[in-house]
Amino acid sequence: MDIRIDQVDPANRKPIEKDPVKLGFGRTFSDHMFEMNYNPDQGWHDPRIVPYHTLALDPATMVLHYGQEAFEGMKAYHGSDGGVYLFRYKDNLARLNRSCRRLVMPELPEDLVQEALKKLVLLEKAWIPESPGCAMYIRPNIIATDPFLGVRPSNNYLFYIIVGPVGAYYAEGFNPVSIFVSDEYVRAVRGGVGDAKTAGNYAASLLAQKEAQDKGFTQVLWLDAIERKYIEEVGTMNIFFKMGDEVITSPLTGTILPGVTRDSVIQMLKKWGLTVKEQQLSIDEAIAGIKDGTCTEIFGSGTAAIISPVKSIHYKGSDYQVGDGTTGALSQRLYDTIWNMQIGQEPDPFGWVERIDT
Ligand SMILES: *Cc1c(COP(=O)(O)O)cnc(C)c1O
Repeated sequence: MDIRIDQVDPANRKPIEKDPVKLGFGRTFSDHMFEMNYNPDQGWHDPRIVPYHTLALDPATMVLHYGQEAFEGMKAYHGSDGGVYLFRYKDNLARLNRSCRRLVMPELPEDLVQEALKKLVLLEKAWIPESPGCAMYIRPNIIATDPFLGVRPSNNYLFYIIVGPVGAYYAEGFNPVSIFVSDEYVRAVRGGVGDAKTAGNYAASLLAQKEAQDKGFTQVLWLDAIERKYIEEVGTMNIFFKMGDEVITSPLTGTILPGVTRDSVIQMLKKWGLTVKEQQLSIDEAIAGIKDGTCTEIFGSGTAAIISPVKSIHYKGSDYQVGDGTTGALSQRLYDTIWNMQIGQEPDPFGWVERIDT
């Protein structure tokens, strides 16, 4: 299938914001987007790069009522050599197809979507900010488009990719976050959709997030839904605990989003000779470790921030400060190494980084 390209007239293009301070996250989008449709007769068809535009949807469109959709999040980087770099994007597209299977949506042709993604990023490469920590965010999305009320899988789908510049998560260096342990709300249950990147998970998390923020905390730490005991994730990130000489993160039991950054951190720590355990850690064990000093670092991992150090945990009315409340050495080393790898400045023994403009 050939990808058709319909370009915006250069005279009508948007001004490109590159000032890292003004960028923020998820607010600005480039001039073009990729689109492709699915119907049962033709399968995926008409792949095209077209001017960025609003979608005209029938008010009965199924995704708006029943949430049948899946998305992804990844980044393109301006390399230290001026090149355009992607990081593990094939893993994101494989995860998108796993989400599609869980939501009973047709899988995407991975080769075609890889090609589309690279074409779109290269067409929009002037939008990739060059400042440290900044990148171009890439958001693929697949939505159910039948205009129909009634709960069943849609027959028709739209897949699209939008891209836009995003600022550094830490414009003034790391800013360790304070997190609130939710023992009232849960994010996901075994057998549910917690391991799929699908809209409903995020809608379901908003009330807990709002209540945590109203109390002055940055993020919610989610516990397992059955016993409200074992640590699962933090906000929309995976979470790691440095306990003595070991690093512990929650196992992938179906309630946790299998983060690409999570996997990168695990592989990197192992390469550095550390012991990494994917095993359940209870909130009580974590707090005991913080209190007696065995738990020296806690950090979240995800594409947006890469590494997000945790300053303190609030649980059942008490605050527990991790170490001296500043960014730990391991968090800093992981962030620096992954970032430098993403911009092609650090050797990549894993084969994660791809320069796409040569
Ligand atoms: C996207 C996401 C993550 C992080 O995944 P990455 O692939 O590392 O960006 C973690 N948890 C949730 C709930 C997410 O949606």
